[in-house]
Amino acid sequence: MDYRKKFLVEPGSRVHLDEIDPSYTGKQDEASARAIVQDRVERLQRLQYLLYAENKRSVLIVLQAMDAAGKDGTIRHVLGVMNPQGAYVHPFKEPTPEEAAHDFLWRAHRVAPARAQVGIFNRSHYEDVLVARVRDLVPKDVWSKRYDRIVEFEKTLAQANTHIMKFYLHISADEQLRRFKARLEDPHRQWKISESDYADRAYWDDYMRAYEAALEKTSTDRAPWYVIPANHKWFRDLAVSKIVVDTLESLDMQYPPPSVDIEEIKRKYHAAKDDAEAQTPRD
Ligand code: ATP
Ligand code: MG
Repeated sequence: MDYRKKFLVEPGSRVHLDEIDPSYTGKQDEASARAIVQDRVERLQRLQYLLYAENKRSVLIVLQAMDAAGKDGTIRHVLGVMNPQGAYVHPFKEPTPEEAAHDFLWRAHRVAPARAQVGIFNRSHYEDVLVARVRDLVPKDVWSKRYDRIVEFEKTLAQANTHIMKFYLHISADEQLRRFKARLEDPHRQWKISESDYADRAYWDDYMRAYEAALEKTSTDRAPWYVIPANHKWFRDLAVSKIVVDTLESLDMQYPPPSVDIEEIKRKYHAAKDDAEAQTPRD
């Protein structure tokens, strides 16, 4: 199954999140999905090594979702396997006073991945058309102009050889409540609960409309959105890992040729080895 096609938000198409089943697992069973994720995770490590070696392009992965939908879990199980030398996660929290004193893209652009790097945005510049819209943090006249700016910004990154993938992890309101309850009862997870989690639930439908608008207006060929059914964590990991690996494989990256004459260095190596052996006293 080509998840890059199945879960893609076709550029220019309408999105109705109510009609997308967050519990979807297709014909996949959990045990074989876990084995596939394991394989994809290993491939992802090799592909990131290649991206780093090739030193020609970068990758930006955007994760957006309601609270408890699994952004952290996706990072822990799938994306977090990458070598920290070439990959990083940037969480987008409420803007600091310095961030808030700039245009909304300033903080995103500063942390966009440099060549050979993979940047993972845990939340992103999309918060400025999601929470900002739903909670009336700025007037409509302000947030409504941001979609075009986002498309332009992502185009700028793409033209600088940044490959962009954006994931909306789609859970149901019921599943979110189940996960909140599990957090309430688990002393190791209680720290994750915040006031705003429950407050945001009251705006669930508004958030869905805001997500639909963002997905419709900003899914482009070079910065596509994928809507990932995420009620089942194992399926979420499967879908994300497959899409990321398939995308990186489609880039057909190549190791750069060595910058030195390998045959010459081999000759030197053998000569040095012969010398060392000649000098080693034998008993
Ligand atoms: P977790 O809860 O798993 O630790 P999180 O991403 O929810 O991860 P929090 O610190 O709970 O982290 O929440 C970050 C908060 O910052 C969210 O409520 C989000 O909506 C808010 N936020 C992010 N960007 C903006 C923004 N541009 N304007 C206003 N609020 C924002
Ligand atoms: Mg939170």
